[in-house]
Amino acid sequence: MAATMRPADTDAPALLSVTNLEVVYDDVIHVLKGVSLRVEEGRIVALLGANGAGKTTLLRALSGLLDVHDGEVTKGSVIYAGRKIHHLPPTKIASLGIKQVLEGRRIFAELTVEENLRVGGHVAPRSVKQNMERVYGLFPVLAERRKRTAGYLSGGEQQMLAMGRALMSEPSCLLLDEPSLGLAPLIVQQIRDLIVEINASGTTVLLVEQNATMALSIADHGYVMENGKIVMDKPAKELLADSDVREFYLGLGAEGSAKSFRDVKHYKRRKRWLS
Ligand code: ATP
Repeated sequence: MAATMRPADTDAPALLSVTNLEVVYDDVIHVLKGVSLRVEEGRIVALLGANGAGKTTLLRALSGLLDVHDGEVTKGSVIYAGRKIHHLPPTKIASLGIKQVLEGRRIFAELTVEENLRVGGHVAPRSVKQNMERVYGLFPVLAERRKRTAGYLSGGEQQMLAMGRALMSEPSCLLLDEPSLGLAPLIVQQIRDLIVEINASGTTVLLVEQNATMALSIADHGYVMENGKIVMDKPAKELLADSDVREFYLGLGAEGSAKSFRDVKHYKRRKRWLS
């Protein structure tokens, strides 16, 4: 499915707006060091960054899950639909329409597909049945496997179930943490197309990915995070064409030749973003 590219529109109202956010774990581990980011309504925004950059921490701050990990927002703000949310509990944030799909496909392995979906749907305005039909429409394979124990699904099916369960609460904004992680290329394509379809049906998406090619191919705008800071943000098309991004994330030199992993690792040691 071809992604529809929309021009970045900085005048459009931000559905989600993060300003100078600082997050500390265990009172001492300073992980986010003044992050600012905006997600406009109806868009797909990609957040890229190497392991440990702080991407998951940012998502936890947005969905209210920092507490569970002994983390807290010490400075800055998160505003969603005009409302400050950075000190609200996760249930309240979820009721405002933000839903996070955690990295690693955290489904209830002992429950069936249908039971997993029911768990996700109890707070939704529409009936569980209506939302389940919508999810089955998006993910027909889940309909075929509705009575199957979730733990026996393939990795790709479990990712679809995790996304489907999140959609059961009719979120206005979906936070996806590495949905392509560990999946075969064909399945990554399917997940990519599904994200486009979910977005086209009106859900704003913040997509955290290490698969930069996949994320930037469908995003409107992209942010690059390093060591707890945003070091670059541009329209996704421009990021895809940026020589640093191509070399660092896509393993491609300026002339388009694939670099070896060793070259890329060497590059990582040699050069820090915008330093
Ligand atoms: P990855 O893709 O590897 O998950 P990431 O960009 O999502 O990377 P985070 O998981 O947010 O990065 O981690 C950022 C930093 O915060 C890392 O140094 C990590 O060790 C640290 N960190 C994460 N969770 C905690 C925690 N609960 N307590 C202390 N430090 C943590």
